Amino acid sequence: MDRKKARIVREKKTIEEMIKLYCHHYHGTKGDELCPDCRSLLDYVYLRVDKCVFKENKPTCKNCTIHCYSKPRKAQIKEVMRYSGPRMMFHAPGLALMHLIDGWKDKALIEKFLAEREKKNREK
Ligand SMILES: [Zn+2]
Repeated sequence: MDRKKARIVREKKTIEEMIKLYCHHYHGTKGDELCPDCRSLLDYVYLRVDKCVFKENKPTCKNCTIHCYSKPRKAQIKEVMRYSGPRMMFHAPGLALMHLIDGWKDKALIEKFLAEREKKNREK
């Protein structure tokens, strides 16, 4: 698997862990279980990641300049982040650290993507 793909897999895994933490705490689920609400949120996030306009250059969602979530979903994921964000360092330190590093690299990625898109538009 190449590095860009690995990054997207990592992002999915990170969000899955965050939703699990949140669901276990607020909805009383355990292990790999998710309540129907949180399951549908996770499915939604996966779909957004797969349909991301940046494709393999996708930044971590937090740093993205294009906000593609619907309003209710955005509110829902914010709730999850608020609870799980600070807990990830203890719950899954490796994943949390990699996600942090991915986030640092984002700015350069986004700038490159926008510059390339602009170049293409000019050539049309
Ligand atoms: Zn839940």
